[in-house]
Amino acid sequence: MAPLSHGTGDERPPSTVDVNPLHGVANPAAGMTDDPPRNRLPKGPLAPSTAYQLVHDELMLDGNARLNLATFVTTWMEPEAGILMGECRDKNLIDKDEYPRTAELERRCVAMLADLWHAPDPTAAVGCSTTGSSEACMLAGMALKRRWARRNPDRYPGARPNLVMGVNVQVCWDKFCTYWEVEARQVPMEGDRFHLDPQSAVELCDENTIGVVGILGSTFDGSYEPIADLCTALDALQERTGLEVPVHVDGASGAMIAPFLDEDLVWDFQLPRVASINTSGHKYGLIYPGVGWALWRDQEALPEELIFRVNYLGGDMPTFALNFSRPGAQVAAQYYMFLRLGRAGYRAVQQATRNVARSLAERVEALGDFRLLTRGDQLPVFAFTTAPDVRRFDVFDVSRRLREGGWLVPAYTFPAHREDLAVCRVVCRNGFTSDLAALLLEDFERLLPELREQPCPMVSDRAAATAFHHCEEWPQESHENR
Ligand SMILES: *Cc1c(COP(=O)(O)O)cnc(C)c1O
Repeated sequence: MAPLSHGTGDERPPSTVDVNPLHGVANPAAGMTDDPPRNRLPKGPLAPSTAYQLVHDELMLDGNARLNLATFVTTWMEPEAGILMGECRDKNLIDKDEYPRTAELERRCVAMLADLWHAPDPTAAVGCSTTGSSEACMLAGMALKRRWARRNPDRYPGARPNLVMGVNVQVCWDKFCTYWEVEARQVPMEGDRFHLDPQSAVELCDENTIGVVGILGSTFDGSYEPIADLCTALDALQERTGLEVPVHVDGASGAMIAPFLDEDLVWDFQLPRVASINTSGHKYGLIYPGVGWALWRDQEALPEELIFRVNYLGGDMPTFALNFSRPGAQVAAQYYMFLRLGRAGYRAVQQATRNVARSLAERVEALGDFRLLTRGDQLPVFAFTTAPDVRRFDVFDVSRRLREGGWLVPAYTFPAHREDLAVCRVVCRNGFTSDLAALLLEDFERLLPELREQPCPMVSDRAAATAFHHCEEWPQESHENR
């Protein structure tokens, strides 16, 4: 099968991997005479050092993760965490009978999160680690669907279940709805409202609604959705109509920010309507990629029949997961981080990140060319677009020019009904220091005078896709009018 995403297929790379003679012909000990093929298994083995060098060199041109302001995912951990993960790299999380201590660390992490998220009875809360928030959301969505089916034995199968959410959801919710045959009912954006509003959500609910997803930390702009107001609106709906619609909170980022920085915000299991919560351990949980968490407020919220019991690894182990085998290292690292930082440590780290986000957002606004959509005061993330009087360049130009300095700042258009709006988004993470933020700002200051002199935007979304420049469409304005 061809890779899913690359190229048009026209430009064929050479069929072999190019080998430096120092590793190949000029190194008799390596015993390698032919360049290894690119797309077939080589005929025979290579020396480990040669193979290592080839893979190492191939990866050299990957980006510098510290300058990547597009991703939410952790790119740096302490060396001790790396050592611990190395020690656990052979541990398969599913082998709970062989690795009972790893299983115990997973259980403790779930218990800590249940407490952090105010489960009414943390010992009654149930949960598990996952590969990331995507898998956690699939599991939570399955639980919602199954609970709805149980409540409505007369309608299912037959009726089509639906899930209500903002159009700003992360793609995992579109996946869930497609893979599990649930209708996705999405509340569009409207004017300057870039996420779900409780009233529109309630209007989309009916007797086939399995739940409403509220996002703590919208992917598009970092804003928190109003979870408490959403629950109040659904309470009123239930009073009026008897419809009982649970809420799942997608806290991929925010569930590890709000508990430390927004303690007065009520969004979690304190709200009786919140049935389940997920987070990405590998985002603001501060762990390298490969771990998420899904929690349900009590056993009632997670139908027992979704949990499988297997005996073929020894013991009688319950499992609720899409995968079977998974690395145990990330779970050990999550426990290490919880132990290492505690509440005060997490608060300090997240506060530092939010401070960087807020002050950078303010300084980007002060440049005068941009309008902020968010200010980094919820998730440490902000989105901005060009000010209304800026006609000579757009956010795609800004993104493209920032790449010259190695910065990855994505530009993208918003979904329905604000497809007209294009933004840049900056995701601040631990390790993106105020010093680095100052360097980014210097690059803004360096490239803006040039952008202001451009005749017109050089790349737009469409132009980038079709290599078509449409300068003519823009009125030629004098520089004063930019
Ligand atoms: C990142 C994200 C996801 C997906 O999480 P992964 O851990 O990357 O699978 C889901 N929802 C939201 C709101 C996110 O930000």
